[in-house]
Amino acid sequence: MPGINSLAYLYTMETLLISGGSRGIGAAVAKLAIGKYNIAILYKNSKDKAEALCNELSTKGVIEAFYCDVSSEQSVKEAVSKVLKRFGKIDKLCCSAGIAQSKMFIDLTAEDWRNMFATNVDGVYYLTKQVCEGMLERKSGSIVYVSSIWGEEGASMESAYSASKAAIIGLGKSLAKEFAPNGVRVNVVTPGAIDTDMMKGYSKEDLKEVAESIPLGRLGEAKEVAEAILFLLESSYITGAVLPVNGGGIF
Ligand code: NAP
Repeated sequence: MPGINSLAYLYTMETLLISGGSRGIGAAVAKLAIGKYNIAILYKNSKDKAEALCNELSTKGVIEAFYCDVSSEQSVKEAVSKVLKRFGKIDKLCCSAGIAQSKMFIDLTAEDWRNMFATNVDGVYYLTKQVCEGMLERKSGSIVYVSSIWGEEGASMESAYSASKAAIIGLGKSLAKEFAPNGVRVNVVTPGAIDTDMMKGYSKEDLKEVAESIPLGRLGEAKEVAEAILFLLESSYITGAVLPVNGGGIF
């Protein structure tokens, strides 16, 4: 077996690109997948966390962090081109980068709406666009989008977030059909309440209430969503699926 720093090792491994890999669910995917793939994680603001994750995992496999603002087409183009230069191809894509905002619709500005869609929808579009061409040519590839339970059910005071997450379910299901003849699968996970920085805005009391409203009685862990993502990335006959990872729902 060639050493993990050798070129032979690099080119025999498939490459997994993870947006939102600096923190939360995306970072959990990297931790679970290290050693099985060359991993490229994208960060925007959390360079330190991305680098710390790379250091932590570097003894187990190949992982590198690349700057990318997914809401900018140019930034996505530059990042994907750097990943391709380093690893040669991208076999698997996990789009986990996302933002959330809790606001009454009546107070929601056009700028709030645009920001939400720029990251949560445009970001997924730009990444897919840059990565899918190689996959379609090679007739092989797998993509997973991280949507949300609210993309399916809608959430009060999270209309822009819910709409953005519904949009990528539609995109994923459509691309599953369009890409299937070329052997490229596209699936979506819809997490419920997961214990990451995204839930930091909630008070302890609110989180307790949320946990009590979930049939399994607790928030999910990033690792539990990562397991579902990896399962879908590696499956062979699942495409166009929307997999809830939500402890039974939020009521
Ligand atoms: P998180 O811990 O807040 O992490 C968000 C990630 O998105 C970070 O890595 C962040 O990177 C990245 N990101 C945000 N804006 C970006 C941009 N413009 N360009 C590049 N990267 C950007 O949240 P999380 O819980 O892991 O969320 C991951 C995904 O799961 C999101 O799409 C979220 O909507 C979805 N989700 C989460 C929950 C939950 O309860 N946590 C539930 C359902 C769905 P930097 O820090 O480097 O900027």
